[in-house]
Amino acid sequence: MIKKIYQFSAGPSALVESVLKDVSQASIDYQSSGLSIMEMSHRSEPIVELFDDTTSHVKTLLNVPDNYSVLWLQGGASLQFTMIPMNLLGEGETADYADTGAWSYKAIKEAIQFGNVNVVCSSRKSTYSFIPKDYNQKNNSKYLHITSNNTIYGTQYKVFPEVKNENGHLIADMSSDIFSRKIDISKFGLIYAGAQKNMGPAGVAMVIIRKDILGQVEREIPTYLNYQTHIDKKSLFNTPPILAVYAVNRTLNWLKELGGIDTIEQINEQKATLLYQEIERNTLFVSPIPKEDRSLMNIPFVFSKEMDESDFLSFCQKRGLMTLKGHRSVGGFRASIYNAMPVEGVEALVSAMKEYESING
Ligand SMILES: *Cc1c(COP(=O)(O)O)cnc(C)c1O
Repeated sequence: MIKKIYQFSAGPSALVESVLKDVSQASIDYQSSGLSIMEMSHRSEPIVELFDDTTSHVKTLLNVPDNYSVLWLQGGASLQFTMIPMNLLGEGETADYADTGAWSYKAIKEAIQFGNVNVVCSSRKSTYSFIPKDYNQKNNSKYLHITSNNTIYGTQYKVFPEVKNENGHLIADMSSDIFSRKIDISKFGLIYAGAQKNMGPAGVAMVIIRKDILGQVEREIPTYLNYQTHIDKKSLFNTPPILAVYAVNRTLNWLKELGGIDTIEQINEQKATLLYQEIERNTLFVSPIPKEDRSLMNIPFVFSKEMDESDFLSFCQKRGLMTLKGHRSVGGFRASIYNAMPVEGVEALVSAMKEYESING
């Protein structure tokens, strides 16, 4: 099977071809057991091993220190919007939140149900087209929550903010840039990401949590929503999404064999540079994002003058370049070029943009 199309969707996004092959094989016969992986018990040895192995991939790739746990949970990144304040923000306590996009905003909306939320900055009034640099943090804040990459708008933190309260923790939604670049885990109290952007299919979310930040709020936490439950049960408290975790496992294994985070970071920079340079050069397109905040993962661009967007989209589609429509709140186009997007996919898009300019410019 050779894929003939390049899929630029923001999520669920393109998966690596070898991963799809591994998943289809495991769906029929897992490790020559005669059983589909979907028919296997999460108490069986191969599946317990699968979870251990997937976690150990994460620890190796990201250099996760020993005082952190890696968890595989359901409910997507969205459930983390709730679990984080439920587990970490006591009644009457304060948490800082940076409002840099629709996902940050949703996280804020959940947190206000549990404690006081201090919005330290917001670019909402400018359609979230930049990352604010000034933060109005509280001295007693339990944590500062940020969205490291804003999937919809194409902005990304290049430098993470320092937490003002020395006992507070930095918490990041890294759904759309986890495993794309080097990060220092020890700077964070908690990191989370839904799998379906940069590490696998929908159905599982990863949480990396520093264990000692737990157990400090007084409220009763429902069993499933308590991080400690999943730490104690090694993410096998209830029936987990085994097939999704297997796909994550193969994706991380692919990444490891490719050379790990250092290698993929270079490739990601190469891909993004190719596309941004073309957006700058091409007279038909402009980037709505200031240079210093431009994402390496999600790259929005718009026409520089009044033109028919659907015409460019169908022009691309005829060349096998799919799902380039921008988010409805931004308009224009968006190319999501996560880890699984090969350089050739970006080159094909750049060629299409050049050709379109030569016809319509
Ligand atoms: C997609 C996305 C989410 C939502 O993820 P779900 O797994 O669908 O809940 C949250 N945050 C960011 C940054 C995202 O890109």
